[in-house]
Amino acid sequence: MAAERWLFWHRRDLRLADNLGLAAAARATPAVTGVFVLDPAILQARAPGGIPGDLPAVAPARLWFLQESLQELAEAWRAAGSRLLVLQGDPEQLLPRAAAALGAAVVAWNRDVEPFARERDRRVARALQADGRKVLAGWDQLLVEPEALSTGAGDPYRVYGPYWRSWRRRLEQLEALGSAASGGLDPLAAPSSLIDCDPAQLAGLPVETLEPTAATPNWLPHDFAGSDLCPCRPGEAAAQQQLAAFCTGGRSAPLLAYDEGRNIPGEAGTSALSAALKFGTLSPRQAWAAAQDARHTVAALGGAQEALASIQVWEQELAWREFYQQALFHFPELAEGPYRPQWRAFPWENDPSRFAAWREGLTGMPIIDAAMRQLNASGWMHNRCRMVVASFLVKDLICDWRWGEAAFMALLVDGDLAANNGGWQWSASSGMDPKPLRIFNPATQASKFDAEARYIRQWLPELKHVSNRDLLSGEIAPLERRGYPAPLVNHKTQQARFKALYTGLRG
Ligand SMILES: Cc1cc2nc3c(=O)[nH]c(=O)nc-3n(C[C@H](O)[C@H](O)[C@H](O)COP(=O)(O)OP(=O)(O)OC[C@H]3O[C@@H](n4cnc5c(N)ncnc54)[C@H](O)[C@@H]3O)c2cc1C
Repeated sequence: MAAERWLFWHRRDLRLADNLGLAAAARATPAVTGVFVLDPAILQARAPGGIPGDLPAVAPARLWFLQESLQELAEAWRAAGSRLLVLQGDPEQLLPRAAAALGAAVVAWNRDVEPFARERDRRVARALQADGRKVLAGWDQLLVEPEALSTGAGDPYRVYGPYWRSWRRRLEQLEALGSAASGGLDPLAAPSSLIDCDPAQLAGLPVETLEPTAATPNWLPHDFAGSDLCPCRPGEAAAQQQLAAFCTGGRSAPLLAYDEGRNIPGEAGTSALSAALKFGTLSPRQAWAAAQDARHTVAALGGAQEALASIQVWEQELAWREFYQQALFHFPELAEGPYRPQWRAFPWENDPSRFAAWREGLTGMPIIDAAMRQLNASGWMHNRCRMVVASFLVKDLICDWRWGEAAFMALLVDGDLAANNGGWQWSASSGMDPKPLRIFNPATQASKFDAEARYIRQWLPELKHVSNRDLLSGEIAPLERRGYPAPLVNHKTQQARFKALYTGLRG
């Protein structure tokens, strides 16, 4: 008797190894077919109305990353004995059609925290069940499931500190469970020896060809030209290489110097795995396991305290990722605007020409412009700079943080609703963070974290001749500017202005 066929629907888990939903499918039957749906409702969406620039909701950099990752994933499916179908259209219609065409009894996928995805998944599940198919949906993209942790009062966490401590304790319990197949954290191997479907069954399905041709080098149309500059590399194999380069290498592993290295934008001191974690070319368990292996290496090398502290700081970043995801899961209204209601009445000045200057890296403040040029050119920006440019847009240019949130989503290779919204609400002081008002002074930030102005010169080559001091302060003599704009605003004046508006808001 032929093995029962299952479909596995990939979404933000573009890998075969340590993919919990896929592993569950492959344990049930070797006859598994992969599906990915290119949904025009997502790919062609625009930023919310009222934001200047008619921004795309999906950055060209993400389309590049997605296309390359899917191509590699399709090869991995072939090597495992089966295939990946890439379909174009509405998943609610396509998944039941594909399941019917292949005679699949079950459709499996990994759950998501985003409001849009959760609603879509409910509709897809209903459509499949109406056709008599079973649905299997579990968690995979987080080390700790969003429903697993709650405060002493039984509420979801709103504050990171206690969340981190509770998350860490939970991980210790999960570690003791061993393999991820039994609820633990040890990553799973990729399935192999799968059984392909009969290609004749695919007739009538809108299957995309994944091969770029001379006429259509981007079968997923995009105009991203920064792939050589982008530190995030698409595909499962590249994610593994990047993880190894960051976590291994004995004493010289960047992870062991992360505590300091993470703050220097002119150095590659962070993992650049954000897009891999966003698209799931890397699983969080694989990232966690690499950090634990590094702990053992440090212990074997004599256990330097700074190295162990660095590993913990990186683990805390993985916890920030999960904190924001669980927050979005429990408080989907975060996606709609400020968490703190008083911010809805803030009198933003929202000057479109200032916003455009910020987006293009033409504010006349070198650290801001270098960071925005990095984002425009490479699709990625260093975390320190994300905080500095976000504070500048909101608190110096007095522009609604939601404009910045949308501008980031239109450019970032790792653009992710939970992390981006969390980062913007943190920077704007409108979110769950208990600190009332945080204002970054861009000149102080530049002096502290780019003291030799290496990062500024890298991204603003037209200012290579300017002294470090002037590059850091932004006080560049008119003759030295050579076309580079004069400062759009004065930080001190704007800081006072913002504080006055904020005080008015608090009444
Ligand atoms: C305004 C603003 C917007 C942001 N938008 C995004 C976004 O759209 N997508 C995104 O992945 N991150 C976002 N971040 C968080 C952070 O800047 C990036 O995750 C980080 O710069 C990615 O670089 P890395 O992979 O080298 O990180 P590493 O320093 O190596 O950290 C490891 C991983 O931890 C996670 N992480 C690290 N810092 C954070 C954080 N503060 N919040 C959530 N997760 C974190 C990421 O998955 C990252 O890959 C934003 C931060 C700010 C301040």
